[in-house]
Amino acid sequence: MAAPARLKSTLALVTGGGSGIGRAVCQRLAQEGASVAVVDLSIDSANDTLRRLARDAPGQDHVALAADVSRSESVRALMEQIQSRFLAPPRVAVNSAGITRDEFLLRLSEEAFDSVLNVNLKGTFLITQAVAQSIVTSGQDGGSIINMGSIVGKVGNLGQGNYAASKAGVEGLTKTAAKELAKFGICCNTILPGFIATPMTEKVPQKVLDKFAGMIPLGRLGRPEGNSPVRKGVYSL
Ligand code: NAD
Repeated sequence: MAAPARLKSTLALVTGGGSGIGRAVCQRLAQEGASVAVVDLSIDSANDTLRRLARDAPGQDHVALAADVSRSESVRALMEQIQSRFLAPPRVAVNSAGITRDEFLLRLSEEAFDSVLNVNLKGTFLITQAVAQSIVTSGQDGGSIINMGSIVGKVGNLGQGNYAASKAGVEGLTKTAAKELAKFGICCNTILPGFIATPMTEKVPQKVLDKFAGMIPLGRLGRPEGNSPVRKGVYSL
């Protein structure tokens, strides 16, 4: 049965919408009736997602836009493009853009630390601030900002000091945003996924993935489009 169009006439912005979790989020938001601004550093990837939305949710006004979330000029230009096209602020923003640059602490370079913090944490800050400002200046309160943390931000992970720090930072930032923006009707939440099979995790050595899969009750990594608790011989519905 088709999902009810709970987000009809809602504009949603998704960073990192060209791949993995961000792409699946775009597809789900479109399925719920939203118009989606698919934002990615790679315009080709964003356009690829856009084609899927046009196929699966035709008749809705989606757009693909290139932006580097770690640069304030790029985020400003992005918000101007959205305002001039939709004449309204996004009411939903999902910060899914993220990168990894794994290295053990003893060898982790300053450049690899900064680049991960810049995309994952500063990028989330810039988009959160820009979207909140656009909602507040529109004079019409209300919205939802969803930031992608990670279980790694809670528990750490070998070779991911930069990534863990960025994701722990996303949690603190989002909790503060939730407190400050509640008076404008803007809800802010962090999602902490475990290991999900995407291009990001394709870079992880298979033996490490197997180790993590062994710790997951389903016996496999999660899927961006969601988990079905079906594994022959273990679960039955
Ligand atoms: P992915 O690599 O498949 O997608 C990330 C997307 O972000 C890519 O399309 C990339 O082009 C885009 N991006 C990178 N830098 C950008 C920038 N500066 N500006 C704009 N876009 C940029 O990754 P994914 O697995 O889908 O991860 C999505 C989010 O979920 C990330 O924040 C990641 O840290 C988080 N996460 C992933 C996992 C996992 O296991 N896959 C687990 C926990 C959290």
